[in-house]
Parts: sequence; C-alpha cells; structure tokens
Amino acid sequence: MERVRFAPSPTGPLHIGGLRTALFNYLYARKHKGVFILRVEDTDQNRKVEGSEDYIHESLKWCNIQPDEDPIRGGAYGPYRQSERREIYAQYIKELINNGKAYYAFDSNEELAFARTEAEKAKGAFKYNAYNRSEFKNSLTLSDEACTKLLQDGNYVVRLKVDADQEVVSSDLVRGIVRVNSNELEDKILMKKDGMPTYHFANVVDDHLMKITTVIRGEEWLPSLPIHQLLYDAFGWEAPQFMHLPLILNPSGKGKLSKRDGDKNGYPVFPMSWNESSGYKEKGFIPEAHINYIAQLGWSLGEKEILSLKEMEETFDVNAVQKGGARFDYEKAKWVNQQHLATLSVEELIKNYSSYFEELKMAVGGQLNAAIELIKERLVLLSDIEKESKCFINDPADYDAKSLKRIAKIDVSKVGALLTEGIKNNELGELKDFMQKSSEENDIGLGAFMQVLRVAVVGSLSGPNLIPLLTVIGKDVTLRRLDRLISEQS
Ligand code: GLU
Repeated sequence: MERVRFAPSPTGPLHIGGLRTALFNYLYARKHKGVFILRVEDTDQNRKVEGSEDYIHESLKWCNIQPDEDPIRGGAYGPYRQSERREIYAQYIKELINNGKAYYAFDSNEELAFARTEAEKAKGAFKYNAYNRSEFKNSLTLSDEACTKLLQDGNYVVRLKVDADQEVVSSDLVRGIVRVNSNELEDKILMKKDGMPTYHFANVVDDHLMKITTVIRGEEWLPSLPIHQLLYDAFGWEAPQFMHLPLILNPSGKGKLSKRDGDKNGYPVFPMSWNESSGYKEKGFIPEAHINYIAQLGWSLGEKEILSLKEMEETFDVNAVQKGGARFDYEKAKWVNQQHLATLSVEELIKNYSSYFEELKMAVGGQLNAAIELIKERLVLLSDIEKESKCFINDPADYDAKSLKRIAKIDVSKVGALLTEGIKNNELGELKDFMQKSSEENDIGLGAFMQVLRVAVVGSLSGPNLIPLLTVIGKDVTLRRLDRLISEQS
C-alpha cells in the first residue's frame, strides 16, 4: 500500500510550489490506490504564522485534493501535527544517542559564531563535523560528570554524528542515484535547545512511523537527502523512495517564481486570497482548471493537456516528471481555465457559480440559460462574467471610439431606419433573412447592417453572437438602443 504525505510548515500561505507538491502527492496516491496524508510540520515556533494551517486546509479543499489522514480527520498514525509529537521525538533521539549515532553539544551561540568567523577568515564555510568536533564542547569531548551537569541546565542540542570519508548513497525517482561524500555534510542539529526536533529529525522519524513509502517534495529539499539517508541508516530503517520535483521558474525563466514577480506582473502565487493578496480563486479561476495547469509544472501531460482531476489521477506518471525547472506561464494558466470553462454546461455554471450571475438573472429572468450559453464561450475567467453580461443588463454607457470609427462611412440613419422597420415587422430570430434581403434591395453591404446593429446594442463591434443576443433582450430594448445610436450618430 503506497502512503505519501504533503508536509508543509505553517509559515504562511500555500505557494504555487506547495500546492504543486500537494497535488503530485495526491495524484500519486490515487494512481496507486494509496493514502494521501497531510502532516503539519510546525516545530519551528518562531516561524509559525497564525492562520496558515487553516489556509492550507481550505486551499486543498477548494482544489478538491483533500487528504485521507490529517490533523483534523485524524488517522491511525497521528497526531499529524509535529508540535504534538514531542514525546515521540524525545524517545527516538535517546535511541540514537544510546547507539552512539548522535551526541549532545553544549556550545553557546557566541562560541559557534566565533568559530564560524575564524573558519571564514581561514578557508571558507564553517562545518561542525568529524574534523573539528573534538575542539568543541560536547558529550564526545567532555567527561561524563561534566556532561551530566550541563544536561541539567537544559542548555544543549543533539547533533547527528556523521562519520568522515563515507560515501552516502541515496536515490531519487527523477534524478537516479545521488552520491555525496560525508565530508561535505555536517553534524546536523537534530534536537534544539527548546526541546523541539529540527526539520530533518522530525521529518525522518515521522515518515518512518507514518509508514510513508514515497516522499514527494520540492527540489529545494534535495540537499537534505543525504542527511535523511544517514538518519535512516542510523536507525537501521529502510528509507522510502524519494521524488524531488523540479523548481518552478519565473515566466522569464530566470530565477524561482516569486511573489514579487507576481505582484509586479499581475498574477497571483497563492490559490486563495491571503491578507491583501488575491489568489487564483478571487481572480476567477475554477479549481479544476487551476490544478490542471499546476499539474503541468513539471509533469508533461503529452498531447492532451486539458484533463479533469479524475483523468489526471488515472494518467499520472512518475516517469513523465521532468528534471529541469518548470517555467510558469500565466497566459497558459488562463488558457487552461478558458478550456475548462468551455466544457462546463450552463447548468453546471449556474449551480457552481450562481453568485456571478445574480445581476444577469435579475435582468433577463427566464432567459438566463440562453444568455449564459452566449457568454460562456467568451469567458477566460469567471471574473469576465461581469463584463460579458453588461450588454444583457444595460444599454451601452457610451460607444467604443474605435468601433465608431469603423462604421463612420456607413449611413447610420438610413441603415438604422431600415433596421427599425425590419425589427418591427419580423421575428428577431428571422432578422438575418430580412437584413440579407434589405441589403440586396438597397445595395448596402450586409456587414453595414450587422455593424450598426452591433454597435447600437453592445456599444462596440465585439460581444456575443448578435441575433441570439437580440432574442434574449427582446424587441423593445433592441429598438431603444438602435434609436439612440441613430440620434447620436446621424
Ligand atoms: N516542512 C517541509 C516544508 O515546509 C517539508 C519538506 C519535506 O516534504 O520533506 O516544505
């Protein structure tokens, strides 16, 4: 049974990268008929941000990729919040210390800062490791008595004892075998002074205890992999499989996708609003489209790019996950949204997004479905509904200057008069035939009729299919709008 987990730290809203990790875990679980877990990694009390755990739950809910086990639903391997698992970590850290795989270190921040400055002066980066740990204050260098005394003060950390000159071999589903010499690593802190575990320690203990079979996470965690491997080895546990997802790059392809770039260029980086930043939801994206686009950040879907969640669950393929960075493309994200909106039926649109149609419904009443049918194909975002509904609700506020220019050569009063007669004496649905005939009789291009009518009704030369639009708004409204154009433009 495959078990995967999404393990965010509640330090702020869920970023596109975090949502992508959650989605790939979800898809992997569904594809393998496994279990998707949400574990909240909240051991760093200083970085914890109020409201972010709720935000994570809400976002996953909006995207319809909800966990099978999490802090709220519970499950057989809880608690699912690391801050509630302190006793578990305390027990496992003892095991490592007793086996000589970890040790206590009592160095003060000042002492470490001094060592760091000295190292930087001499040869570069400071590492607390097999080559210099004998110069520091720790349970490997101090006597038992001294240690016991210092331990009573509670002012200590626990470090992993990384042996020198070892080849640490781990494996990644996307990158293959990853080899690192242990001399490049350091004796990472596993337990902090406040008694809380560090990310590395809690992460490995929990992945083991929660029976995680595959760890799927962002590439930024790849450098941590050798440390995690050493921890698994230290415990004598079998490590899960790992899959590190490629970085998500800015649209320019230079550098990581950032909130700053999003703010500057007008695209969100969060699924839903967070403080004053709006998210994809508020921008008018529908969740099925948003995750379909997010899925494409690192997973090449092949020819068929527009997939429902169900289809993605069936086709998700680890082998199609790319190594290289995935470039974010807001225009593509909108295009995917447009494709998904087009596949929704009018009934589904009304059912799921009724609040967007309130004004339109008041204006057209029983013609609501017909009106939505007309604007549906013009929508890129749900937020376009307001703009596209306007011609059904109000007479044009003013006429678009460019469109007026394009009809400047037409004799608006003559075409307008013919149209007025035609509308009065024909069913709106038959207006096209009338215009055709009148165009031939009067030797005026059919386009002139269409353009005058469109500018009169919509205010510009764009807008939904004209004749069906007229049948929704009716003869009175059509004539009123036409009258106004004639009187203003003749
Ligand atoms: N808590 C880490 C994060 O915030 C989890 C990394 C992992 O999945 O191992 O992304």
